[in-house]
Amino acid sequence: MNMVNPQPSSDAPDKAVLFCPDCGHHSRYDEEWHVVDARAATRYLCPSCDTEITVRPRFDSTPSLTARSCRSLKETVDANVRLWQSVWRRSMRLCVPG
Ligand SMILES: [Zn+2]
Repeated sequence: MNMVNPQPSSDAPDKAVLFCPDCGHHSRYDEEWHVVDARAATRYLCPSCDTEITVRPRFDSTPSLTARSCRSLKETVDANVRLWQSVWRRSMRLCVPG
């Protein structure tokens, strides 16, 4: 009979523990690992053998629209509004006899 123990074993590794597949080094993610922050991702390197353990994408908290891009967007919208107003006036002259 196959019995499955629903209780996790106290010997089970903590989910916060990282393991190096090359040298077997293991410790919590926030302890001994060399953390390299780059623009797009954070790399975790083994402190014993420099093997890359994991790469985690960084989520930038700065808004994607800067004040400059908002001004540019507003100028584009304004230009399109003026264009459509011009088209509307010309179409009204063509359609309305006078
Ligand atoms: Zn290692």
